Amino acid sequence: MKEHFNYLVVGTGLFGSVFSYEASRRGKKCLVIDKRDHIAGNIYTREVRGIHVHEYGAHIFHTSNREIWDYMSRFAEFNHFINSPMAIYKGEIYNLPFNMNTFSKLWGIKTPDEAREKIREQIDGLPIGEIRNLEEQALSLAGTDVYEKLIKGYTEKQWGRDCRELPAFIIKRLPLRFTYDNNYFSDPYQGIPVGGYTAIIEKMLEGTEVRLSTDYREFEKSQKTAAERGEDFISYDKVLYTGMIDEYFDYCLGNLEYRSLQFEVEDMPECDNYQGNAVINYTEREIPYTRIIEHKHFEFGKGEGTIITREYPRSWKKGDEPYYPVNDEKNNKLFSDYMELASREENVLFGGRLGQYRYYDMDKVVEAALQMVEKEL
Ligand code: FAD
Ligand code: UDP
Repeated sequence: MKEHFNYLVVGTGLFGSVFSYEASRRGKKCLVIDKRDHIAGNIYTREVRGIHVHEYGAHIFHTSNREIWDYMSRFAEFNHFINSPMAIYKGEIYNLPFNMNTFSKLWGIKTPDEAREKIREQIDGLPIGEIRNLEEQALSLAGTDVYEKLIKGYTEKQWGRDCRELPAFIIKRLPLRFTYDNNYFSDPYQGIPVGGYTAIIEKMLEGTEVRLSTDYREFEKSQKTAAERGEDFISYDKVLYTGMIDEYFDYCLGNLEYRSLQFEVEDMPECDNYQGNAVINYTEREIPYTRIIEHKHFEFGKGEGTIITREYPRSWKKGDEPYYPVNDEKNNKLFSDYMELASREENVLFGGRLGQYRYYDMDKVVEAALQMVEKEL
């Protein structure tokens, strides 16, 4: 017997789930598979003693797009959490993002004019013309102290390479402000879903067939074999693939580069409050992790005891989890070559952070998935 689906969706992350939800609403039959043993991809949260543990690193939903905010609000109520991380450099604590609180602590100044003057003094005479890399971008915006203490070490351990070999856009993700405002994002809409992110994906996938611990290649092969043997098999018109695009093509043009992470979780049932903030960054090179997150603070201290996660950046090799695309010139060029191949795959769509090889935040992923739905359906 043959079971037929309109779409085989590879990946239960945000992209695959938004697409499946919308396709199902439009009467399409989807089968969603994931090689992991849980749904939700990197936004997966797990509840422990009333604490939602962000299993793959801190996830704060933020957007400037009202439509995307309203869309996500259909699936969850968002609390009013505002991300205000702190940074520790050689035992000194600073506010992030770079703002008057940071400058005041660094230089003992009080006014925006004094801060601007200090930065001007620091960049005066530096040989920076047209911005070519992250180091030049950071120095020209914030001066040498901010760069040396809060950016250089963090960035080099996060990306495993010199700041001069990284694209400038990475640091432009962070606001630089001459006001006393510690909000890490400039978007008007921000929050954490009450009940965790996994519940959002559960709602999106409600009524849709999901198979976990199922890798695409193996699944495809097994269905082909079953069909050849005259056994029950599954067929589909189209595939939406949200895994790594280079893996899909068997790395035939070479490897795209990624950065990986190792998450070290520490459960402290006896401790009520470990660090007093959801996110603390460790910006010096010598400390091997980039940040410690304390999950209960995303929901204003709810839950018993506490759980923290240290985030260690790692180089990526085949088989590791690819958390970040490395969008430098070389990799972007290789990606566009893969896109050329992708355009010849008539019945396969590529989406999400890995399928589109972009340093996408969640709101952009939802936006891109909805755009794909518009185009496709
Ligand atoms: P994913 O969540 O990666 O989902 C892809 C799924 O496909 C995975 O479940 C994977 O197992 C599955 N898959 C891959 N290959 C195969 C295969 N061959 N067969 C079967 N299944 C396969 N964004 C924000 O907006 N705010 C934040 O604060 C934020 N913090 C982040 C922190 C970290 C540490 C990281 C890494 C990302 C962060 N992001 C944040 C980005 C956010 O995680 C992504 O935008 C979003 O999760 C991407 O969704 P996706 O569906 O594209 O990918
Ligand atoms: N960054 C930094 N110091 C910090 C925090 C961030 O230099 O304390 C830089 C670093 O290069 C990082 C980039 O800013 O990769 C983007 O930071 P963001 O917090 O957006 O990173 P993500 O949450 O995506 O890992």
